[in-house]
Amino acid sequence: MGIEEKLPAGILLSSVELLSNWARKSSFWGATFGLACCAIEMMASGGPHYDLGRWGMEVFRASPRQADLMIVAGRVSQKMAPVVRQIYDQMPEPRSVISMGVCASSGGMFNNYAIVQGVDHIVPVDVYLPGCPPRPEMLIDAILKMREKVLHQPLGPNGRKMLEARKAEGKMP
Ligand code: SF4
Repeated sequence: MGIEEKLPAGILLSSVELLSNWARKSSFWGATFGLACCAIEMMASGGPHYDLGRWGMEVFRASPRQADLMIVAGRVSQKMAPVVRQIYDQMPEPRSVISMGVCASSGGMFNNYAIVQGVDHIVPVDVYLPGCPPRPEMLIDAILKMREKVLHQPLGPNGRKMLEARKAEGKMP
């Protein structure tokens, strides 16, 4: 008899998911991705003073195919919007998005036709970070909150859909 038949359905899968998420939460691979002034604070976060490496995140990748965290750092112009979506689509699942700063989250002071009024019109956002610009400590706090969310992230190509379903059923925070 195989192990799948011996165990009740789902137990083995959810344990693998938990183990994988536990490892992932301490090893984010950020996409190198700065759009405006907020990106300066994001870069400072990775420097020796703030030392993002303490949380296993000193490596930012130039290729979205090697990244699992997108930090949208700065306002998103309409021209840039399709590029943001393309980079997101090229990142493998499971992937996460932090909207850094008031411009990325809502358009901020740029309430005009040239700027997307919130990057969540283009990609799903997991954590919104207020401020103009948010300080590196705030970004680090958002990353720590993202770590908690990642623990409950479903694996697989349909992870995002399953996450929404679990939220609707009230099965996750
Ligand atoms: Fe620049 Fe402030 Fe907008 Fe960030 S929130 S992109 S610092 S204007």
